[in-house]
Amino acid sequence: MNMFYSKNIQDTLKDLNSDPLKGLSSEELEKRKKKFGDNKLASQKKQTLLQLFIAQINDVLIYILVAAAVISALVGETSDAIIIAVVIVLNAVIGIIQESKAEHSLEALKTLSTPKAIVKRDGELTEISSEDIVPGDIIIIDAGRYIPCDLRLIETANLKIEESALTGESVPVDKSSSLILEDKNIPLGDQKNMAFMSTLVSHGRGVGVAVATGMNTEIGKVASLLKESKKELTPLQKKLEQLGKILGIGALGVCAIIFIIGLLQKRDLFEMFLTAISLAVAAVPEGLPAIVTIVLALGVQRMIKENAIIRKLPAVETLGSVNIVCSDKTGTLTQNKMTVTKFFADKFLGNIEKLDINNLTHKLLIENLILCNDATYSENNKTGDPTEIALLDAGIKFNLFKDELEKIHSRINEVPFDSDRKLMTTVNKYNDEFYVMTKGAVDNLIKICDNIYLNGKVVPLTQEIKTSFLDAAASMSKEALRVLGAAYKKVSNAHVEIDNLENNLTLIGLVGMIDPPRLEVKDSIAECKKAGISTVMITGDHKATAFAIAKSLDITQDENETISGVDLDGISQEELNKKIDNLKVFARVSPEHKVKIVKAFKSKGNIVSMTGDGVNDAPSLKIADIGVAMGITGTDVAKGASDMILTDDNFSTIVSAIEEGRNIYNNIKKSILFLLSCNLGELIAIFIAILLGWSSPLRSIHILWINLVTDSLPALALGIDPKDKSVMDEKPRSPKENIFTGSVMYLALNALLIGALTLIAFQIGMTKYSGSLMHAQTMAFMVMSISELVHSLNMRSKDKSIFKIGFFTNRALVISILLGILLQNIILFIPALRNVFKVYFLNAYDWMWIIILSLMPLLFNEISKLIKKKEK
Ligand code: ATP
Repeated sequence: MNMFYSKNIQDTLKDLNSDPLKGLSSEELEKRKKKFGDNKLASQKKQTLLQLFIAQINDVLIYILVAAAVISALVGETSDAIIIAVVIVLNAVIGIIQESKAEHSLEALKTLSTPKAIVKRDGELTEISSEDIVPGDIIIIDAGRYIPCDLRLIETANLKIEESALTGESVPVDKSSSLILEDKNIPLGDQKNMAFMSTLVSHGRGVGVAVATGMNTEIGKVASLLKESKKELTPLQKKLEQLGKILGIGALGVCAIIFIIGLLQKRDLFEMFLTAISLAVAAVPEGLPAIVTIVLALGVQRMIKENAIIRKLPAVETLGSVNIVCSDKTGTLTQNKMTVTKFFADKFLGNIEKLDINNLTHKLLIENLILCNDATYSENNKTGDPTEIALLDAGIKFNLFKDELEKIHSRINEVPFDSDRKLMTTVNKYNDEFYVMTKGAVDNLIKICDNIYLNGKVVPLTQEIKTSFLDAAASMSKEALRVLGAAYKKVSNAHVEIDNLENNLTLIGLVGMIDPPRLEVKDSIAECKKAGISTVMITGDHKATAFAIAKSLDITQDENETISGVDLDGISQEELNKKIDNLKVFARVSPEHKVKIVKAFKSKGNIVSMTGDGVNDAPSLKIADIGVAMGITGTDVAKGASDMILTDDNFSTIVSAIEEGRNIYNNIKKSILFLLSCNLGELIAIFIAILLGWSSPLRSIHILWINLVTDSLPALALGIDPKDKSVMDEKPRSPKENIFTGSVMYLALNALLIGALTLIAFQIGMTKYSGSLMHAQTMAFMVMSISELVHSLNMRSKDKSIFKIGFFTNRALVISILLGILLQNIILFIPALRNVFKVYFLNAYDWMWIIILSLMPLLFNEISKLIKKKEK
């Protein structure tokens, strides 16, 4: 075992044959990849086909069916027994196929949201999937990132790492690359020059060389198998489970009643038993859970194409109820393409072109902004925070380049930017002295300045000059510019304590940068308004900047609807709850404020989505109904706490996800209501027949066949009904609403209709072919299955005519209906199947009735839609 913590950096790099300036070369990479494999922890073994099959049939309902099959076989009804067995197997196979498809797309989701890592390879920084890391890779880490493998640190700047995943200790550990630990047996928690896979950078930044990957890492050794997290059911799926149970119990009750009635009517005991089973089967929509899973999974896959990755399945449903979208400004509502356009120094406010590099103040301003900067710039590659890239771009206009400047004024120390302080500081060498260079939000910066640099001289910062600075900042902010201030101080010793860097500074000047709104966002905000969703802007920027942009995007036109972080601090949660309805823009907020804001909106019963990207955004993302993390700029922490990730960081994607969420919910609702109205129809038909003392109009096999085969295809097709744009004309769905709200009558009437049609067909058969129960049952079987297939067309919209929507806008549905009819005919045409299903070959007269009766659901529903439209 190489104890890298006891080696110095040079020896470590030599051991691993790695160069921190260039990183690994492509050829070397290939070799190491072959040798070490993927950098991932072994996951649990996949279930075998047999296990999957057993899971499918492990269900009370299936037990009942098996019992029925066994009893049928015992009493000599072999064909019944065989058919029940075939249906059970068929159903399990369809279940396995559907579930593995769903599993597959959910698996894809997981890989999409696995953390990425920044590595240096072939001399360039690139972002790669963590799985591709090999020992010897040079890896850049910063706050909010997961450590992708075990590292020996080779550079650290105030680096703190939270190692609870490995050591259980939740207090972040200070790390330092310069330490060398001689002792032989140092516990992991004390290896302060190392960083371990799956731990989290909570502060600062650093560079490390990969010393172990995959199962060779410390976490790999303890967690020999990655525990799969439990599958999460959506609220709807949970309710369906309950519904299934209620229906199951209800069915048993009905069975008992039927059985008793049958006994009283002195019917054949075995016939009554089979009928009771058919009823139990009829009452429970067997295919439903699988259909809901697959519809959710397909929807989630569609959302990936639209740049939204769902991390938690329940979010798909919640999306449809969202009525408040809280969005960060920078990068989400705006393009995050910053350009410095103005500056203020030596009491002069003007366009950046007017900056005079020979003026001492101007020069120090721009040097400060380039040196106190973590972005990097090469000919074809810019990396870093767009705010900082803009500053480097501004420098280049005046022939000042970061790499050249850093050669002269090397960086000795630093305090990274964070959104609470809104400041960043470096210490740079200036000849024999050291300059503390600080940049950040003006209001925060001015508080730690005593002096000002004017015409090359340091003079005290008077109230008058302060006011002139704040006025200049306000004037830039009103033009929607993001304003950044610069300040410095000289120190003689580079190693001043960190707490002593950001004080007694000398103010230098300001720059203002523009960040244009994203073009598509204004339309999306208007779309939200129409859909009953209100957009709220949350930003670290100044109130005036925020309001200027909010106004241009039409989030609000009223300045009274803006509030800043300081004012938020001044009021209690209760007070904020009271006034929250009248607030649209939250400026100069820090991540802690976001929690207060979400709580306030939720206190009014709103369903809130909140965006976030930083380390400290996790709490607000967690308590929001939908936490949305940025895919590009977001930290691993924010992504880990989120329900959904935007791969393009774009506000408009949230809106499309909401639209998609509403559609998915509606489609699931269509499938569920369709299946339930069919099952209820079957129940009504049999129950009434028994009550009237008739023979059962359907054999148990017929019902099984319809439920498990001919009904499932249209139900699935309804689940993938094309997007309906008009969902965004409606208000968000109330979270209290359930799938039946407003649909109970609809469900009951259609079930009654299908039941009645089946009974009519049965009676026609009984009258025409008096005595041939089989002939009458065949007619009932055909009408029941085909009228249900036709009824699926009605389900596409509750109020729009199918002729208006267009039959072929959902081809899958048309195909599944035709396929269903074809299957019914195959049963009739093939003598062997006729025997098994106990059906009779029908003539033209029979077919005339079947067609007329089966079309009734379409006719009735079209008429009712017409009447509804007239009433409106
Ligand atoms: P939004 O919340 O709209 O997405 P943001 O998250 O970019 O904005 P912050 O990053 O918290 O907001 O920035 C808030 C303020 O901090 C800015 O207005 C700017 O003055 C200052 N600031 C931003 N980036 C830096 C930086 N890299 N160095 C110093 N100061 C910065």
